[in-house]
Order: sequence, then structure tokens, then C-alpha cells
Amino acid sequence: MKQIRDVIVIGSGMIGSAIALAVSRAGTKRVTLIDKGPLVSGMTRRSPGLAHPFQAHPLLCELANSSFEFYNRWAMQLGGKNPFVTTGAAAVDFPNAEASAQFALWKEHVQNASGIAPNALQTLYPDISKQFRAAMFTPHAGYADAVLTAQAFVNAAKERGLDVQTGTQVKQIAVQGRQILGVKTTTGDIEAPDVIVAAGGWSERLLAALGVVLPLRLQRAVIAFYEQPPSVTNDLPMLIDASGAHFVRPHPYRMSAAGWISTDANFQNVDALDEYVLPNEYARVQNFLTACLPEFANTRPKRAHTVLYETCADGLPALGRVGNFDGLYIAAGFGASAFAVAPAVGESVMQMLVDGDATRDISSFHPQRVTLNPNPSATERGA
Ligand SMILES: Cc1cc2nc3c(=O)[nH]c(=O)nc-3n(C[C@H](O)[C@H](O)[C@H](O)COP(=O)(O)OP(=O)(O)OC[C@H]3O[C@@H](n4cnc5c(N)ncnc54)[C@H](O)[C@@H]3O)c2cc1C
Repeated sequence: MKQIRDVIVIGSGMIGSAIALAVSRAGTKRVTLIDKGPLVSGMTRRSPGLAHPFQAHPLLCELANSSFEFYNRWAMQLGGKNPFVTTGAAAVDFPNAEASAQFALWKEHVQNASGIAPNALQTLYPDISKQFRAAMFTPHAGYADAVLTAQAFVNAAKERGLDVQTGTQVKQIAVQGRQILGVKTTTGDIEAPDVIVAAGGWSERLLAALGVVLPLRLQRAVIAFYEQPPSVTNDLPMLIDASGAHFVRPHPYRMSAAGWISTDANFQNVDALDEYVLPNEYARVQNFLTACLPEFANTRPKRAHTVLYETCADGLPALGRVGNFDGLYIAAGFGASAFAVAPAVGESVMQMLVDGDATRDISSFHPQRVTLNPNPSATERGA
């Protein structure tokens, strides 16, 4: 029997789960969330779950400010045990670096953050070095296990009627003329007038079948986990390098997680992620860790893994209606910001579906700016 729904969300990562939650909570739609693998089996599974407002664009800062409020009010929003740990975050810049434009952006767009002298940062957190050129601090930041968080979103949405289909690959988005009809999957067809592509790095190929060319840039990163040396006895905040290439944050069981994002964007295939961490990648992570927290100088990682993250060619996400299709939306390309902004992205997509438009101006992330053929001739494809 054909399945008939109002909304299909493709992808159960951080972004798709947050959208499924927001739309299900709005109450008026029959929503199906589809994933080709188990729940949360994409790059979210490898993500360090950072939620901080020191983002690369004013709209990302705004979405992160709003999402922090969501995480902070977890008990009211979702109930159950809150997996979110508030740490505060400092954005730091080293003497030989120059990120003044970034700091100027944050002064304007990040709520509850202010410049802090390296001495003052060290007074708050005695284990941090003083060798920074500039720093900003916000208490409104933290982290959570991204998988547990996405699963909690999905479970809360299921209580509102969300239908979840895992192990189900969307082979094609079905369209007739300009109108979206639903999806064809490996387990059958599902009809729905609205389809949201939240398939992370796999989004590009789903759209390509419709003639929409939205190239995504894939970058590799490494995340390593260290035991805190016994000499570190104080709380630590999250530390982010102003260029966005490095971070270190506390981790449960007296560990710290530190990461480095490569600037090499030559990966062509999201399924071709190499699991091995190279010595020079370990060195990059360790250098930042030790520069921030000298007590870690003699520590070695206990474990590490790689991750690919995707953005549009301009380094920003794609969020909004796609091409000249009625009922087709994308929310992908959030890269290292996905966890930080997911709840607010979910709200914006819900408003587009329910009210016709998002209350927040999200036009800077409109997919049309990066789509190479923004209005492919609509034709009959699929069901
Ligand atoms: C250094 C670094 C730090 C980062 N920090 C964070 C962070 O703190 N928080 C964070 O969230 N992210 C972070 N990221 C990014 C993170 O790794 C992911 O890029 C992000 O979580 C992607 O979320 P998503 O929901 O868009 O996509 P994904 O989690 O990749 O989900 C996409 C889903 O779509 C499914 N899918 C794909 N194609 C199909 C299909 N045809 N049919 C059905 N299902 C399909 C996949 O199976 C997958 O589950 C970081 C990345 C780096 C490199």
C-alpha cells in the first residue's frame, strides 16, 4: 500500500532530527524521517557536539545564540536527563595570527560575549596559558554527545507522531512539473508534497538527480581524546581558535577532546573517508592543545577518529527552498556548526512549512546563491 504523508525529512543527523522534532511539535503535519542507515549514522556520529556562538557568519551566530537557549532549557523543551554540559567558551588568537575581522563580527553579533585579557582568562581558568594575542569569552556555550542529542530529538518527536524509517535509502525524489510528489525508496514509495533534504554530504547527489547542481565542499578533520594530566585540577572551558581550525573542550571522565580541521577541500566522495589519523594530523591537534593548556605537553591521545564535514563552496550552509520546485527544501552544509545551530534551523524550516516563511531572515543561506543551475527545467521524474 502506498504511504501518504505531509512531510518527508531525508537524513537523521543532527539537522534532520532537529527539523523532524520542530515540525512534529507544530502538530499539524504527518512527518516521516528516513535514513539509509541506522538512526544518526552519518557524520553527526563522529561529531564532537560543540555548541558555541563563535561562528563564521552573523546568521550562524544568531542561530547559535538561539539554539543555546534551547539546549539550556532542555528540561522544559524535552524532559528527561539533559545531556548538555555548559562549559563556557573562549575564542583565542595567537600572537602570529590575525583575526581582527572575526573578533569584530563576534563583538557585534554574539550575545553574552565580551573581550577578555589573557591574564583575566587565566585568572578564571588557571590551567590556560597566557600567550594569546586576543580573546573573547562567553559563559553561554557547552557540548553534548551529538548522537544522544539527535536520538533524544527523534524520541521526543515520535511522541508527537513522527514516523521513522531507518535502513531505507531514498533512491529518488519524485516530481511532476514543479510539484514534489514524494520519494522513491529501497523499501517503497512515499507520497508527500514537502520533502526536506537534510542528508549532509550526501545531499548533493540527491539533488543532482533532479538536475539541481549544488556542489558541496568536503573537508577532513581529526578529533583526538586525551586524559587530563593529574596536575589539571580546575575546570576548563571550551577553547576555539579564532580561525575556526582548532578546538579543545572538556570531555566526561576527566578527558579532553581536541580537533583540527584541514583546509584541504579535495575530497570528492563522502563515502571515501579514510579512518586513519596521520602523524602530522596528530601533531596539529597536539600543538594547539599544548599552546592553550601547557600541562598537556607530555600527554598522548588515548583514541582518535576522522570526520568529513560539508559546506557550500563559500563555506556556508544551504537553507531554504530549492530551485523552482514547490515543496523541495534543503538544510545541509552546516559543517562544524551543525550541532550549535540545529534547534534554530529546525524552527526555521518548520516555519517555512507551516507559515510559508521563516520569521528570521535566512536569505543569506538561500541555496540559489550557490546552485550552478538554480532553475532546472522541471519535468516528470519518479512516482
Ligand atoms: C572539527 C569538527 C567539529 C565539528 N563539530 C561539530 C559539532 O560540534 N556538532 C555537530 O553537529 N557537528 C559538528 N561537526 C560536523 C559534523 O561532523 C557533521 O558534519 C554534522 O553533524 C552533519 O550533520 P547533518 O545532520 O547535516 O548530516 P549527517 O549527520 O551526515 O546526516 C545525514 C544523514 O543522511 C542520511 N542519508 C544520506 N543519504 C541518504 C539517502 N539517500 N536516503 C536516506 N538517508 C540518507 C545519512 O545516512 C545520514 O545519517 C564538526 C565537524 C568537524 C570537522
